[in-house]
Amino acid sequence: MVKFGPAGNSPLFYESGGKSSDQVPAWLKSIGLSAYEYQCGRGVRIGEQTARKISAAAREAGIAVSLHAPYYINLASKEAEGRKKSQNHILKSLRAADWLGASPVVFHPGGVGGLSRKEALDLALTTLEEILELAQKEGLTHIKLAPETMGKQNQLGSLEEVIALCKLSPQVIPTVDFAHLHAVGGGCLCDKSDFEDILAKIEGALGSDVVQYLHVHFSPIEYTEKGEKRHRNLEDKDFGPDFLPLAEIIKENSLSPTIICESNGKQAEDALAYQKIYRSL
Ligand SMILES: [Zn+2]
Repeated sequence: MVKFGPAGNSPLFYESGGKSSDQVPAWLKSIGLSAYEYQCGRGVRIGEQTARKISAAAREAGIAVSLHAPYYINLASKEAEGRKKSQNHILKSLRAADWLGASPVVFHPGGVGGLSRKEALDLALTTLEEILELAQKEGLTHIKLAPETMGKQNQLGSLEEVIALCKLSPQVIPTVDFAHLHAVGGGCLCDKSDFEDILAKIEGALGSDVVQYLHVHFSPIEYTEKGEKRHRNLEDKDFGPDFLPLAEIIKENSLSPTIICESNGKQAEDALAYQKIYRSL
């Protein structure tokens, strides 16, 4: 089964009378969606009680929950203290995900800063390896960690870099943000083969199971020569990437990905629009 859902609480949820996050799963079910990425982008502030309420509501409504870790995580920070803090933010995210019944925990690997890409990646690998050890000590190995492909040149998180991080452990899987790949590649996702190449690379490096249950971010995006400018939505015409080629690949190969829509202000509407495209095939 392919799951579709919004990143965070869509404005439509509040416009529909929704008030708190534990109401989101039932609301998503009522409009026909089946996934929800809980947002901790600005910090993991959720308490255990609230998280367990959302978890119960999601189980009841059959909604798959994932969690987006704080944006300021930087596994490649030049300062040891910065890397330590990032480890703590990821561990906090894992604990919250455990209460939420959420997996994976999506995170941005970090910035390249003044380092070479190789140096930055090596630092990130070491930092992530330590996180995996700490997660094991806390009994949190049942939650996947999912570094995201990033949209700007100066961010760590090319497809190759994300794959390298995933090779550390089966606990680490990629979050493939196709909008970011499209933006950083200067509008590189046009034909079906462009999408197929990405999935083939992941399958070759990480195996077919990872592709079968891929965690995906999708939305229209605006970009410049430096990469991502901002996420758009389907009402803004002329912003790619187009979802149809990916939908065809999913259908033809009977894949079961989770598609999280990050459209600006229209996350729920556009998740439904993508689902409609997929179901029309
Ligand atoms: Zn993200």
